[in-house]
Amino acid sequence: MPIFDSHCHLGYDADHDPAIDHERAVAAGVTAMLVVATDAASGDRCRALAALPGVRWSAGLHPNDATRLQAEWTTIVAQAEEPGCAAIGETGLDCYRDRTPLAEQEESLRRHLALARELDLPVILHCRDAFAPMFELLRGEPRCRGVMHCFSGTIDEARTALDLGLHVSFAGPLTYPKNDALREAARFVPADRVLVETDAPFLPPQQHRGKRNEPALIVQTVAKLAEVREIAVEEAARITFENAVGLFG
Ligand SMILES: [Zn+2]
Repeated sequence: MPIFDSHCHLGYDADHDPAIDHERAVAAGVTAMLVVATDAASGDRCRALAALPGVRWSAGLHPNDATRLQAEWTTIVAQAEEPGCAAIGETGLDCYRDRTPLAEQEESLRRHLALARELDLPVILHCRDAFAPMFELLRGEPRCRGVMHCFSGTIDEARTALDLGLHVSFAGPLTYPKNDALREAARFVPADRVLVETDAPFLPPQQHRGKRNEPALIVQTVAKLAEVREIAVEEAARITFENAVGLFG
């Protein structure tokens, strides 16, 4: 049962060997993963991890670091232009941690969207407590394929994301007991637009809450997705794998 972890930060914490996390992931059936950059330095690390089997990588600047846009943009563009780069991001808007002014996050997001269109790559969107400004900004831009990563919204917000042409990706919070609205959204997203991810080392699934997350643990999120959609686990793995390949290559 091959699984595609569509968003993880393999190698994020310096005290863990990414090759070991990767090996454990492959043993759990995670034969493909997208390793996502959060800034220029992590983009270099992500690119190096592409030496591991099944690893794709991205280039971009996290919205919480958007104040570094001018300093890092040239490097990020150069990374994105390399033939192996599979996606642009993660970018987006984050009104939960408000250390970066929204106007700067929006400027960074617009630059990422333009780069994604120019290079014909999908964009990885982080959206935390920011659906209203995110949707308003996206509606004012030419269409761009991509994914709402670690989706945290309702059916209505999923519908808007889908209407904008985006895929919708579910992470560990899908397994948290109180998240019934999120599970309703996961049931609602069409089979050809749904993805799964770990966002490791963050957001572990319910059975590992409070601990470090890793790509191997995606199995629990795939099982929950299968349960809420009333399909076999193998089917949930298959559709999310095919969708991720379609989006990221
Ligand atoms: Zn992330």
